[in-house]
Amino acid sequence: DMQITGYDDELARAIRDEERRQEEHVELIASENYASPRVMEAQGTVLTNKYAEGYPAKRYYGGCEYVDVAENLAIERAKQLFGAAYANVQPHSGSQANAAVFMALCQPGDTVLGMSLADGGHLTHGAKPNFSGKLYNAVQYGIHADTGEIDYEQVEALAREHKPRMIIAGFSAYSRVVDWQRFRDIADSVGAYLLVDMAHIAGLVAAGVYPNPVPIADVVTTTTHKTLRGPRGGLILAKENPELAKKFNSLVFPGTQGGPLMHVIAAKAVAFKEAMEPGFKDYQRQVIMNAQAMAEVFLSRGYDVVSRGTDDHLFLVSFIEQGLTGKDVDAWLGAANITVNKNAVPNDPQSPFVTSGIRVGTPAITTRGFGLDEAKQLAGWMCDVIDARGDAATIEQVKGQVLALCARFPVYRQAAA
Ligand code: PLP
Repeated sequence: DMQITGYDDELARAIRDEERRQEEHVELIASENYASPRVMEAQGTVLTNKYAEGYPAKRYYGGCEYVDVAENLAIERAKQLFGAAYANVQPHSGSQANAAVFMALCQPGDTVLGMSLADGGHLTHGAKPNFSGKLYNAVQYGIHADTGEIDYEQVEALAREHKPRMIIAGFSAYSRVVDWQRFRDIADSVGAYLLVDMAHIAGLVAAGVYPNPVPIADVVTTTTHKTLRGPRGGLILAKENPELAKKFNSLVFPGTQGGPLMHVIAAKAVAFKEAMEPGFKDYQRQVIMNAQAMAEVFLSRGYDVVSRGTDDHLFLVSFIEQGLTGKDVDAWLGAANITVNKNAVPNDPQSPFVTSGIRVGTPAITTRGFGLDEAKQLAGWMCDVIDARGDAATIEQVKGQVLALCARFPVYRQAAA
């Protein structure tokens, strides 16, 4: 039992409530997952107490002999998992990893070319309110409104016109296989660096069910907590290039961070070990199959799935035809204990706060054990709620079914005997 209980009941209640929410809601946010008890155990250890500025065997503090072991394990496993010659496991988050890479490869004012937020890119790929859009001259590419796929011809044309110092490939909301080599060729044709941000698909890549960008890009960044199913955190990987490796290290520390989170680095080491287990490949295959099965249901019920399907762990549904907003659909599903996020879709007439679509991802439901039957059933219930335009009785009925399904597939609780 938590020692916080009885000391700080208000906080303890919030933690318990969140625990119950995670058990009793179906989680379809594509960037979320459930870390294993081992990963969480590592994060709750005394490693949280240790200052270890620097890198293994080159620290600015004494007493680092054991945290060095933990960081070396994380580094070696990351390299092995992704076939990389270089790994930096210290970035506190995906955004921190990207900040370090930007600073290592670009000067303020340099031109960078990334996918726009509205088309499925991330804030750190050049969005206006982000450091990447403030400090750099960010040019943005997008997706074909008709096909829902990356507009490579536009990428090429923008690269030729603007001569970026760095091109960023990678996404937060894209359901197709990115042609990494095509990005490489475009980058080479204008002498640009290629950064691939594989945050969303790192788990799929680790399992070999999505093409690995590490041999192709100059540098690859990722988070460790999405499909990869580790602790919240960031990671930088690269193929053999000692000169760049040195830059990345010095732009993580001391460039953009101070002391590394050694308890989180230990948890990353655990997650990388788990990702090398044979079961991880089965898990990632199931993630994709579940996403494809759910997308099929939406299509068969007359809803518009962007790009007509998916190759990865997520898909987007557009409600432009029905005249519905992502905000409303998100709220209706939420009332039925189904968590998604509203998401802009191609040709979206609504603002980013309202949108005309939702993003649906399967990493979390697959971790809790949903297979094809459960995924299809769930998608059917979602369509029922949307067909009924959020009718209260329909929501109540679906919520009851969702609660029963969640009880059959506990996340952390012991299953009822
Ligand atoms: N890169 C991509 C493609 C992402 O989707 C995200 C997270 O949403 C990030 C980077 C940022 O990661 P973090 O939230 O850990 O800063």
